[in-house]
Amino acid sequence: MVNDQLTAALTEQLSQQAGSDPIMAMLLQQMASTPPDGADEELAELRSRLERSGRKIERLRAELAAANAMAAYVARVLGACERCWGMDQFCRGCLGRGHPGSSQPDVGTLIDWVSPALQRAGLPTITLASDQTRAASEEQEGGHHAVV
Ligand SMILES: [Zn+2]
Repeated sequence: MVNDQLTAALTEQLSQQAGSDPIMAMLLQQMASTPPDGADEELAELRSRLERSGRKIERLRAELAAANAMAAYVARVLGACERCWGMDQFCRGCLGRGHPGSSQPDVGTLIDWVSPALQRAGLPTITLASDQTRAASEEQEGGHHAVV
């Protein structure tokens, strides 16, 4: 096995360099000895745990990327800085001035999102100015859209 050959070569080279150093001699003895009983099982368990941890890290990275994408999307809808939402005075994008509404929000998407929640809460519904004509005609037909 290549590892055994490498270990033997390394041990021999270190033996020559160690001289009379007792600590080095003890380390070399440990390197040369056979692994204790159960070492293979322990190594297999550690490898398995490492693989599971690697998969978990990948899953968490994917979840973090999805959360960051969602936060950036919501920031765009609200007209906020996608990097910091205006909460970081050292932000390269906005210097802390990117609070919601600091830039033009995505009005159509914003209204689509907010209106159902406002209706559910019994609050006035927001409509686009371009929808005012439609809302007014719906009110005449019995609808209950208030224009803000
Ligand atoms: Zn920012």
